[in-house]
Amino acid sequence: MTRRNDRRTLASGERVAAAARRLRARPGWNPRPSAADAGQELAVRLGEIRAAAAYEQSADCPACAEARRDGDPDALCADHLAQALGLDPR
Ligand SMILES: [Zn+2]
Repeated sequence: MTRRNDRRTLASGERVAAAARRLRARPGWNPRPSAADAGQELAVRLGEIRAAAAYEQSADCPACAEARRDGDPDALCADHLAQALGLDPR
């Protein structure tokens, strides 16, 4: 490999680094999500799982059935609403 080829390789490496910098500068581009982002993502997933569990249990709950009598098919009793929202200490 000649000296000129070394220089070309270096130049192309610099171009790649510059392109990567431009990409990272774009809004919404985040190739390495921070631990905080990952924690937030996890919290959202946990919330979905918790809400699904609350709705599943509400099928057998007389208080939920009572709450649904008003016409809202997704209504929850106070206990199951608290569980779905993650306010249940259990
Ligand atoms: Zn209930």
